[in-house]
Amino acid sequence: MPTSQRGVRPLLLSVALLFVAGTVTAEWVRNNAQASAAVRAGACDTIGVASMLVAYFEEMSVPKPFVVRQGTAFARYRREVRQKLLEKVSLSPLPGRIPLEVRRSVRLDHPWCTVRRVYYLLWPGVYASGLLYLPKELRERPAPAMLCPHGHWPNGNAFPDEQKRCLVFAKRGYVVFSPSQYHYEDLSIGVSNQTLHVWNNMRALDYLQSLPEVDTTRIGCSGVSGGGLQTQMLAALDERVKAATIVGMTCDFREILSPYRNHCRCNHFPGAMQFTDGPEISALALPTPVQYLTMNDWTYNFRRDNFPTVEKLYAVNGRPQAVDCVFWPSGHNYDVPKRERTYWWMGRWLCGEPPVETEKEPDEILTFPPATLMALATDPPVDALPENRVAEQISAVYEKVKHYRPARISGVAEWRSYRRQMVVKLRELLGEDAKLRRSASGPQRVARQEEEGLVIERFRSK
Ligand SMILES: [Zn+2]
Repeated sequence: MPTSQRGVRPLLLSVALLFVAGTVTAEWVRNNAQASAAVRAGACDTIGVASMLVAYFEEMSVPKPFVVRQGTAFARYRREVRQKLLEKVSLSPLPGRIPLEVRRSVRLDHPWCTVRRVYYLLWPGVYASGLLYLPKELRERPAPAMLCPHGHWPNGNAFPDEQKRCLVFAKRGYVVFSPSQYHYEDLSIGVSNQTLHVWNNMRALDYLQSLPEVDTTRIGCSGVSGGGLQTQMLAALDERVKAATIVGMTCDFREILSPYRNHCRCNHFPGAMQFTDGPEISALALPTPVQYLTMNDWTYNFRRDNFPTVEKLYAVNGRPQAVDCVFWPSGHNYDVPKRERTYWWMGRWLCGEPPVETEKEPDEILTFPPATLMALATDPPVDALPENRVAEQISAVYEKVKHYRPARISGVAEWRSYRRQMVVKLRELLGEDAKLRRSASGPQRVARQEEEGLVIERFRSK
């Protein structure tokens, strides 16, 4: 799996973004969509640039209308938003479901289950892996299953609190799979972190459904933080998820992407903020039961600001009992009370248990040292396979799909042609089609010159 990013194209993209940011700036002053200016990054003072970016963020992140729709109107709207989201994460059409080519590590023994690392193919040559917790005693055959994506904790899914949720679900008779998640972006060909995260989780569902022990119609998903984001996206985009618990995640984009309180960049992917927002994405799961566990983090305002709309949406569509929100005055975590609330939710919707809280988490849960789980591998290791070129292979797959050709610029005419194309693409990336309100007090042009066939305009922001 990818552990690093390729540097060349992101750098090129950053440079190009600066050019287009300059064009956007020019529009502030001249309101001329055909502006032909290029602006040097150093033309504005640092504080001015920062204030411009904050103002840009403020305009872009105004929550989009979250309208309660009913019946066929909701179904039609859900289809449209799902399609747009899939397009924005470059998963439309979905990649081919090639054979999983499953490879397994040795088994670790636990009093409640066995644990092993399982590898499976995402794209040709690109393996992902995850931890499979197989109960020693299945209460039912086939059994319900849980997909447990992990958050941004040390050691990912080997982090003890992540293990505990998986182990207790296994004790309760669920087949549990916790995929290892990584970050990789190559925005020049449309690959964002969400491309990898969503597809990895969809393939993890493919894997769970391939197991004879699993009831393919009873698969739940829960995760916290980055794992909450993965749960939210998967429940929104894949109807195989039959119950979801989103922990410490669902909020308006501006709560988590504020210049003063930003989170991992995997929380945003190009284009999404132009037409939707986090709460609406989570509610695309309807009619799937969704539970929101919130706390003293960016989800602090969700119950007050967003949940009433989600609740109304579920109610007018005949599913008032299928949505739940609880707030805890705790830090950003997935501690015992929140995990117990999750077991209750999944028991209710996947196992037909009565809607009362019953079984508590055991006082003592034996977890593995993270290093033990991290070291689980196949023999020979998948990472050593010559065909497993990981990050490069993801980009190679998308270069082929999107007929990508690196720009070759050897003269002014080619540069102008390239620039015209990039302006269109980057204007879309920056949300210029969102018809944002423009501030009347934009930066002022202070100089204009021509150099090597380029027009260079210098601005000073207020
Ligand atoms: Zn992340």
